[in-house]
Amino acid sequence: MDKQIFAFIEEQRGEYIKWLTDFCRIPSVAAQNRGMKESTDFIEDLFDKALQTKPELLPTRGYPVVYSHLKGTKPTTLSFYNHYDVQPEDPIELWDTPPFEPTFKDGKIYARGVADNKGNLIARVAAIHAIKQVTGGLPIDIKFIFEGEEEIGSIHLADFADKHQDKIQSDGCVWEFGYRDADDRLQVSLGVKGMLYVELFIKGANTDLHSAQASIIESPIWRLIWALNLLKDPNDRVLIPGFYDSITPITEEEQELLSHYLLEEKSTLDHLGIEKFVNGLTGEELKAKHIYEPTCNICGIQSGYTGEGSKTVLPSEAFAKIDFRLVPGQNPHQLLEDLRTYLNTHGYDDIGIRVFGSEEAARTHPSEKLAQAVIETIGTYCDLPPNVIPNTPGTGPMFDLCQRFGIPSVSFGVGHFASYTHAPNENIRVDDFIENIKLMAALVFKFEEKMNENGADLSEPVTNATTV
Ligand SMILES: [Zn+2]
Repeated sequence: MDKQIFAFIEEQRGEYIKWLTDFCRIPSVAAQNRGMKESTDFIEDLFDKALQTKPELLPTRGYPVVYSHLKGTKPTTLSFYNHYDVQPEDPIELWDTPPFEPTFKDGKIYARGVADNKGNLIARVAAIHAIKQVTGGLPIDIKFIFEGEEEIGSIHLADFADKHQDKIQSDGCVWEFGYRDADDRLQVSLGVKGMLYVELFIKGANTDLHSAQASIIESPIWRLIWALNLLKDPNDRVLIPGFYDSITPITEEEQELLSHYLLEEKSTLDHLGIEKFVNGLTGEELKAKHIYEPTCNICGIQSGYTGEGSKTVLPSEAFAKIDFRLVPGQNPHQLLEDLRTYLNTHGYDDIGIRVFGSEEAARTHPSEKLAQAVIETIGTYCDLPPNVIPNTPGTGPMFDLCQRFGIPSVSFGVGHFASYTHAPNENIRVDDFIENIKLMAALVFKFEEKMNENGADLSEPVTNATTV
């Protein structure tokens, strides 16, 4: 069966590439409210043409979620989460080709959104199209969940998931992104870090003052600096009480995965023009810190005079923006409370905290059937084994859509290590795109096999598989 489907995908190569390039011509920049309706229109047309179905446009307080549930024969459901919005194309002058005119060069397609996330979205639709065309049906239920606000922080996705728990329920979710590493191995990510993004702000006198007043008037900048000093020590250890206490311990299996994770130390340092990593770490310790440890990062500080030459002034206010990348077990709401208490305890109750975002971390265990199915599919059909990592160092709304409801999720996709997502000259390799369509199609069958193997699932009723 796989052979026939793969041959069909090869035959359809031109058609699938056309779907992708047509989609990439639409500048669906959610941040600027451009091309969003065109984008959902495009998906509706595509589903009509390719899958003979009309997707639902489920409203949110922002852009709608495009949703589709296709019935299969076995009581198993696989869902695909993707997004149809893209990052703004700026700085446009750094693009070699126009960002919304997909261009082929050296076996690659260049376009904004081609890697993040339209290539992945189209590859998955194409895989389901191919299965339907070759076999006349689907072995399992398939759900597509495409949001339009991923690049602006998935601001309504948690609400959406609360409201549509029945619709999003599945036995496993293939998450939106994926890249090949510098060794050309497909990276399989089993999770993401979480996030708490805050701004600390402080006001002093009700106006900027002559700096001669510094002898008797408190400086908000100094107070902010002293407060920031409380957050982290020079060894990069976060000092907020309880910060590390609830972290879910790493299992032996997860620890083992880390040894395959590739972190090019020398080229990274050279590329960045720096001498060493934090704490001078190298090797396994460096990788463990990158993947398994939370961070406390200052994104920016602003206050006072920073222009040319000198100006003697005592500024009246100061603020700093801080992001904490969190790992499984850490709760962003608890951290916010702990941060407030900690600042108060040290006499900084005059420092306000504004919250700009919070997301919990998510991780799927490598022994989960979806993870096994993905790993085996790549093992069977690719020349190189997958590079499985327990979570990426980045953040996404995975917990809100998956782990919160007990749904395992795994991510792999069409990108490569130089796909330049969010940057000028975003691209994917055409062959990677076609191969990913094949892998997604093969995964559907492999997941069905895993879910039903050894009758192991008979003991647990397969709830929610065909409820809609
Ligand atoms: Zn993105």
